[in-house]
Amino acid sequence: MTSSRKVVLATRNRDKLSEMQAVLADAGIELHAAFDFPGLEEVVEDGDSLEANALKKARYTFEITGLPSLADDTGLEVEALGGAPGVYSARYAGESATYAENVERLLYDLDRHERRQFQTVSRRAQFRTVIAYVSAEEELTFEGVCVGQITREIRGEGGFGYDPVFLPLGYQQTFAEMDAVEKNKISHRGRAIRSLLAYFNKKE
Ligand code: IMP
Repeated sequence: MTSSRKVVLATRNRDKLSEMQAVLADAGIELHAAFDFPGLEEVVEDGDSLEANALKKARYTFEITGLPSLADDTGLEVEALGGAPGVYSARYAGESATYAENVERLLYDLDRHERRQFQTVSRRAQFRTVIAYVSAEEELTFEGVCVGQITREIRGEGGFGYDPVFLPLGYQQTFAEMDAVEKNKISHRGRAIRSLLAYFNKKE
């Protein structure tokens, strides 16, 4: 990695920033947010995959700041819904949907699907994060997956997004019932960041 270890994260989401800062700080990486750079505009996430969106955001951020840039894109893939909401997770219930509206729509769609099948259906799901890293020398992507299932009700106050309805495999608590450190240990984003770190550590 660069000698200064200064990296820009292409996000305006403070939840994501703090999750990623927590892991990267331990490796001596100074993570700066897009909102520290007034020239950076919001990037439209119109790619047809998580990879395409993450690369688009990281490329743009590198172009404007000239600093090594990271961007992530995450999707919740629900088996019974054919992988939806996937790349559309942020706007599942509509263009400017809130986290609560997206969660409500997800629970509603799974219930409706179940009623149509006249039997209980699998609530298996996975979060998938793709992190793109773009610098003058390289363009790379790293993936992290966390498998689990969608609960029938909202549980917990922590986290963000779909955390209150996601129960990771082998755990009794939803992501929203865990603290941030615990979530980071097993989460899709935590895994993707650790694979990025492993790459940098190997390079040094
Ligand atoms: P983004 O495009 O990467 O910001 O993620 C799309 C959507 O997925 C967000 O709006 C959140 O609703 C959801 N999401 C992303 N990461 C997480 C997470 O760690 N937990 C729960 N929901 C998440």
